[in-house]
Amino acid sequence: MSYPTQVLKAGENFAGCPGIRRAAESLRAGELVAIPTETVYGLAANALDEQAVGRIFAVKGRPADNPLIVHISEMAELEKLTMRVPESALRLAKRYWPGPLTMVLPSREDVVPSLTRAGLSTVAVRMPAHPVARALIAAAGLPLAAPSANLSGKPSPTTAAHCFADLNGLIPFILDGGPCGVGVESTVVDMTGETPRLLRPGAVTPEMIKDELGELILDPAIYSEPDPQSPVASPGMRHKHYAPKAKVAILKGDWQSCKAFMALKKTQGAMALVFEEELSGCPLPALSLGPQAEPETHARALFACLRELDERGAERVYARCPQSDGMGLAVYNRLIRAAGFEEITVDS
Ligand code: AMP
Ligand code: MG
Repeated sequence: MSYPTQVLKAGENFAGCPGIRRAAESLRAGELVAIPTETVYGLAANALDEQAVGRIFAVKGRPADNPLIVHISEMAELEKLTMRVPESALRLAKRYWPGPLTMVLPSREDVVPSLTRAGLSTVAVRMPAHPVARALIAAAGLPLAAPSANLSGKPSPTTAAHCFADLNGLIPFILDGGPCGVGVESTVVDMTGETPRLLRPGAVTPEMIKDELGELILDPAIYSEPDPQSPVASPGMRHKHYAPKAKVAILKGDWQSCKAFMALKKTQGAMALVFEEELSGCPLPALSLGPQAEPETHARALFACLRELDERGAERVYARCPQSDGMGLAVYNRLIRAAGFEEITVDS
């Protein structure tokens, strides 16, 4: 089906905003709406309607083995979706919800359609903090499945314009709530085992989770390419992600060594992704992720930078390596996937 995709402004009075009312009606009718959240824009549908969820997979071209996150606005909804909620999960919810934290829990398989869970016995649940997302979930009266509102494999959208670029003609509405505050997808933690396991890093950092629960296993898929032969805890880790058209490589080494390396790579289509302080001395045309000491700024800028590299016709991109702790870990996790796991050590 083809639509004249409309971009609706989500106004200040969220609950009474006509855009939210129309979006909620569409969702109740089984249609898809792109919505702002504090992480990235989501492509939302009624999580309990198998047909509506099927449309998400079709529109995004998302592999059917990659389960969706279900977004709720109240704790009471969590009980409806899950078999049991361990005490540790309740503690994380109390501390970090609403917010950029997703928890994988045993699913009520009679309530959450198999397609939403990609056939798993677990369901991933998040309570977003963005006022538009919350108002919309409440207005629709539905839990919303909402993966990032991009075509599968592309960088996630952090503005309504990014959603429009990918989904124009494919969905009826995009709700514009301005640029996303966090800029990378939520932290995903599997709470079904003895010890919580971090499947995807995000703005709720490993340090923050350990501060509440004392322990956390970091899944190896966070840093490294999953072995295609072995099972992965989070199926989404297996797929190519966030990639611009250009071939990206992460440079490992200090700025002097990166600069020397880049100076040897000056060809048509070669570009760099660097920290703000390095822009003026960079041997290649470059975009900035923000000041080196600000990983939160890098997170907000990353996906827009990857899209802009495409617009500028980049063919080969050399990126500075983000920090590997705190919010930096989330940025590194996305960039290493955008780079297809290509890292070049440039220290002499
Ligand atoms: P996205 O919706 O594109 O932000 O991706 C959702 C992420 O959550 C993917 O990496 C999924 O693999 C992961 N995820 C969703 N549901 C589950 C689940 N039941 N078990 C493990 N990982 C999940
Ligand atoms: Mg995604």
